[in-house]
Amino acid sequence: GMAIRLSGLRKSYGRTEAVAGVDLEIADGEFFSMLGPSGSGKTTVLRMIAGFETPSAGSVELAGRDVTRLAPFERDVHTVFQDYALFPHMTVEQNVAYGLKVRGVGKAERLVRARAALAQVRLEGLGRRRPGELSGGQRQRVALARALVGRPRVLLLDEPLGALDLKLREQMQVELKAIQRQVGITFVFVTHDQEEALTMSDRIAVFHQGRIEQVGSPAEIYERP
Ligand code: ADP
Ligand code: ADP
Repeated sequence: GMAIRLSGLRKSYGRTEAVAGVDLEIADGEFFSMLGPSGSGKTTVLRMIAGFETPSAGSVELAGRDVTRLAPFERDVHTVFQDYALFPHMTVEQNVAYGLKVRGVGKAERLVRARAALAQVRLEGLGRRRPGELSGGQRQRVALARALVGRPRVLLLDEPLGALDLKLREQMQVELKAIQRQVGITFVFVTHDQEEALTMSDRIAVFHQGRIEQVGSPAEIYERP
């Protein structure tokens, strides 16, 4: 089915037109990237998909329902940012399970699901550590496990690899793609790095000044850059 449909989407801040008319459909299970230079409107689109910002015009539908009519827990969308925002005083397991705790999931089930999510990102055995005892790449994977544990329909990733050095970044690109294939969740990935988008995506939307210039597979985008 259709995970996300954007229709005539616009967002202005004063005289700045951050998003200037975007139409886009993203299918269930796609690894979809939004590629474009800084200031081209990618993050603002992502924030409207998440329901953090209200469109100035147009609409965002999640599985056929207008996001502005959905309560936060109904949206079934989770966001991963570059600054992982892990709780430093909690263990890795507690960090991953925290969202389930808030939602009233019992302790035994929380632990089982947290461990399963940590296994999905290949961090089994590190659940008792604290974020400060992990490498940057490991912390990134904890943030991912925390997103996956709630089994959202859609995962929004805003430059999640931006803080990593090149080698780790390339390694995480391969891992992220593999994890997405395994869990089958729709990923919407924001990046300004063309190589990154071409490596990981099923389809890419190229943003320029608040609009989409092209949409297509990596091969289609690469052929007419
Ligand atoms: P990108 O993610 O592609 O870097 P953004 O969506 O962050 O682009 O920004 C698009 C434009 O909108 C930029 O000119 C940015 O300065 C502006 N913008 C984004 N958010 C706000 C805001 N909250 N208030 C004012 N201007 C904003
Ligand atoms: P990114 O690097 O992903 O484009 P930014 O660091 O530009 O994000 O923006 C971080 C936050 O600040 C976002 O919530 C964005 O909406 C807001 N923001 C971006 N540009 C502006 C701006 N010109 N004025 C006010 N807020 C902004």
